[in-house]
Amino acid sequence: MFNSIRARLTAWYVFVLAITLILFSVFLYFFLSQSLYESIDNSLTVSGNVMSKTVLMKYSEPPSHGFENLFEDFTGLENMNKFYRVYDESGSVGTRSKNLENSNFPLTQKAYSSALQGVTTFETFYIDENYPIRVITMPVMRNKLMINLVQVGTSLGGVQETLKSVRIFLLASVPSLLMLTTLVGRFMARRALTPVAKVTQTARAIAGGGDLSKRIPVPKVQDEVGQLVTTFNDMMSRLENSFKLIRQFSSDASHELRTPLTVLKGQSELVLRKARNPEEYQEVISSNLEEINYMSRILEDLFTLSKSDEGIIALDLQTINLGPIIEEVCRHAEVLASERDIKITVLALEPVCIEGDAYRLRQLIWNLLHNGIKYTLAGGEVKVSLQYKDESACLTVEDNGIGIPASDLPLIFNRFYRVDKARTRDDRGTGLGLSICKFIVESHKGQIDVESQVGVGSTFKVIIPRSGNADPVEV
Ligand code: ADP
Repeated sequence: MFNSIRARLTAWYVFVLAITLILFSVFLYFFLSQSLYESIDNSLTVSGNVMSKTVLMKYSEPPSHGFENLFEDFTGLENMNKFYRVYDESGSVGTRSKNLENSNFPLTQKAYSSALQGVTTFETFYIDENYPIRVITMPVMRNKLMINLVQVGTSLGGVQETLKSVRIFLLASVPSLLMLTTLVGRFMARRALTPVAKVTQTARAIAGGGDLSKRIPVPKVQDEVGQLVTTFNDMMSRLENSFKLIRQFSSDASHELRTPLTVLKGQSELVLRKARNPEEYQEVISSNLEEINYMSRILEDLFTLSKSDEGIIALDLQTINLGPIIEEVCRHAEVLASERDIKITVLALEPVCIEGDAYRLRQLIWNLLHNGIKYTLAGGEVKVSLQYKDESACLTVEDNGIGIPASDLPLIFNRFYRVDKARTRDDRGTGLGLSICKFIVESHKGQIDVESQVGVGSTFKVIIPRSGNADPVEV
C-alpha cells in the first residue's frame, strides 16, 4: 500500500495535519473553556463585591426590603441571570433573590471556614442534578471579623452549552477536514509526480521498444523533476549518439572489409576457371596478397582503436627526444615520397624532450607524413618542423597538396571518414589513420589541429605538453 511515493507523501501529509489539527483543537477547547469560566468568576466577584459593600454600608440597618432593587441599580443588566443570598449575623439566611425561592444550593463547610478567614470561595454545584451553577461565597468583614456572608450564583448552562457546541463542531470538522485533505493530498501528490511517471513510462518504452529517439517533454518549470527530465533527455541524446556511432562504425567496418574480400574472391574464382601459366598465377597471388595486407592493416587499426576505446592501451612512457624520431620517420617516408616525385623537407628541429611512448609517437608522425605524401601531387613538397613553445612540443606537418574542403575539416578525425572515397581507394587508405593520430595525441594529453585550403595545401599541428620528469630541452 505504501510502496509508492504518492501514498507515502499523502500519508505523511495527512498524519502531520492530523496531529496539528488535534493539538490545535485541544488547545482551542481548553483555552476557550478557561476564558469562559474565568469571565463567569470575574462577573461573580464584581457582583459579590457590590453585595458585600451594600451590606456593609447598611450594616446598622440591614436591608430587608428593596435589596434586590438596590443590587440591580448597582450592577444593571449584568445581574439578570444571577441570584444571591445574604446571611445575617446569626448565620441564617436573611435575604435572598426572588429567583432563588424554589431552588436551593448548599453553604459548604469549606466555604464557610474560608469565609471565617476572610477568604472568598468559588464552587460549582448541580441543582436537581441537572442544572450546573457557579457560586461565590464572600465574607463581609469588619475589623478583621466576619460579620455577614454573601453568596452570589449564576447558571453555567450557557457556558456548558457553548462548550458542547464547540466540542461537537471540532469532533465533526476535524475528521471531515482530514478526509478532504487526504483527497486533496492524493491529487496534489499525483500532479507533482506525473512527470516522474512520464519518465518511467518513457524509460519503459525505450527499454521495451529500443527507440532511443524518444524524449520526455521538458516541463516549463525547472524544478527537481524538470532537472531530472533534462538530465534524462541529455543522457538519452548521448546514448543515441553513441549507438549511432557504433552502428555507423560496424557498417563502415564491414563495408571496408567486404570490398577487398570481394576482390579476393573474384580474382581467385577467375584464375581457377582454367589452367594458367605461372606468371598469371603469380600476378593474381601478389594482387591477393595486397588485399590481404590491406585487410590486416584495417584489422590492426581497428584493434588499436577498440583497445583505446576500452582504455586498455598502456603507454610505455619514457623521456623521449622527438628530433631523432622525426628524422628517422622522415628517412623512411622519403623512399615513398621519391617514388611519387614529392620532396620531404625537414625544417628547424628544436631539441625537445617529452614524456611519451616512442612506438605510438612514431606511428603518429608516420601517419601524418604518409597522408601528406598521399594527398600531394607529383612535384609537391611536405615540410616537417618541431618547436618548443609554452612548455610544449609543437610538431607541424605541412604540404602543398590537394587540401581539404572546409565542410570536411571537422569530420576527418572520425573513423572511416574520407573526403573522397573514390580517390583514396587507389592509395589504399583505411580511413582510420587520423582517428589513431587523435587517440595518440590525446593519450599524451595533447591536441591536434588542422588548417587547410583546397588546392593550396594542409597543415597538421600537434601540441604535446612536456610532462613528468622529462627535461624540456636537451642540449
Ligand atoms: P586515410 O587512410 O584515408 O588517409 P585518414 O584518417 O588518415 O584516412 O584521413 C582521413 C581523410 O582525411 C583522408 O581520406 C583524406 O581525405 C583527408 N586527409 C588526411 N590528410 C590529408 C592531407 N594531408 N591532405 C588532404 N587530405 C587529407
